[in-house]
Amino acid sequence: MQLDIAENEQGIRASPKSVDQFESVGSPRSPQTCWLTRRIVRFVDEFRNPTLIRQVAERIRSRVSRVWTIMEVCGGQTHSILRFGLDQLLPEQITLIHGPGCPVCVTPVSLIDQAILLAETPGVILCSFGDMLRVPGSKGDLFTAKSRGGDVRVVYSPMDAVALARRLPDRQVVFFAVGFETTAPANAMAVAQAVQLGLENFSLLVAHVLVPAAMEAVLSAPGCQLHGFLAAGHVCTVTGVEDYKPIAQRFGVPIVVTGFEPLDILHGIAVCVDLLEEGRAEVAIQYSRSVRPQGNPIAWQKVCEVFEPSDRVWRGMGLLPRSGLKLRKEYAAFDAEKRFGLEGLGAEESSVCIAGAILQGQKKPPDCPAFAGECTPEHPLGAPMVSAEGACAAYYRYRRHAASGAAATVKSSGEDRTAPGN
Ligand code: SF4
Repeated sequence: MQLDIAENEQGIRASPKSVDQFESVGSPRSPQTCWLTRRIVRFVDEFRNPTLIRQVAERIRSRVSRVWTIMEVCGGQTHSILRFGLDQLLPEQITLIHGPGCPVCVTPVSLIDQAILLAETPGVILCSFGDMLRVPGSKGDLFTAKSRGGDVRVVYSPMDAVALARRLPDRQVVFFAVGFETTAPANAMAVAQAVQLGLENFSLLVAHVLVPAAMEAVLSAPGCQLHGFLAAGHVCTVTGVEDYKPIAQRFGVPIVVTGFEPLDILHGIAVCVDLLEEGRAEVAIQYSRSVRPQGNPIAWQKVCEVFEPSDRVWRGMGLLPRSGLKLRKEYAAFDAEKRFGLEGLGAEESSVCIAGAILQGQKKPPDCPAFAGECTPEHPLGAPMVSAEGACAAYYRYRRHAASGAAATVKSSGEDRTAPGN
């Protein structure tokens, strides 16, 4: 599971026999130590090995002594949980709730409207990753804009947009820079490259958001009954875990940085349960094959050179202080909002969509009256039904039949969230 690959380059594929075979310590003692470290697992099929998965689930069952509510932050983790039915393997004392870690879902309607406006502006090419094209704004989406003649192009990297700007000097090329900390280094590099090339026809429509601020918002919400987090492994690969330690301490919740495969997620839950049962509000790294405590300092330094923290509006969650990134003053010329005078353009969110409550773990998609009826992937009313990481899309794909009629509202532990050990 932790794949101590650097220390085990011989890459022995031990066949799983029992949980004891890879259990070495009881629980994490430091951010880099997990109790499955002796087990070498290298291939995707091993991360989905039913025997190992059942053993880890059994380990969780044997450790849990009371009700715990754990939020997986990332939408990719939500999809894995639903796709592989991991929540159904857990003892009834554990409730998983889904968090705000879907960047497409949290991009506000106003920014989608700005992207549409840009796409329909003569001379402008709006470049975006494909998953933004069907996200509804207040009057349609980017696909609709394209069908009306807007110049919308799907790219696979911001560097593709830089290359396009270089090739078409008579056009203005705007890249829709959506994402968490994970995608920020590539966007920072794109701006750095545009500077180097002297491009005056390239800019970013920045919609970057930061995970720790969202976790704080979730924990600060009235009535929050959350006990622990599975944090997003890819985000922490870039940022490291320093920003998570004050959150764990202040709110008394363990935070386990977790990967995305079934075994990763159950392992993360197992570590989180260990910490909860032992009353330790600490940060641990399950996804240690990718995450170092200090993250990737080179990548994050490039981000900090180009961007700085800023207040941001999140779809359904409102304005969160220092929850996003904006271009630094030195790079203001690359800010599409400034270049095209889009600042202050607002828009109303749908009154039907309860994405805000879903993104904060207060409701689950089947609680939405529009789920699988008025709102489907073909006719989405909100971003969580569109995005590959959206919770509504996950429930629609894997649970819509089971969910019909079932009360899915987040189970209450019957008590307020208390700090472990309190
Ligand atoms: S089902 Fe549709 S309308 Fe309801 S919360 Fe999800 S995206 Fe919004």
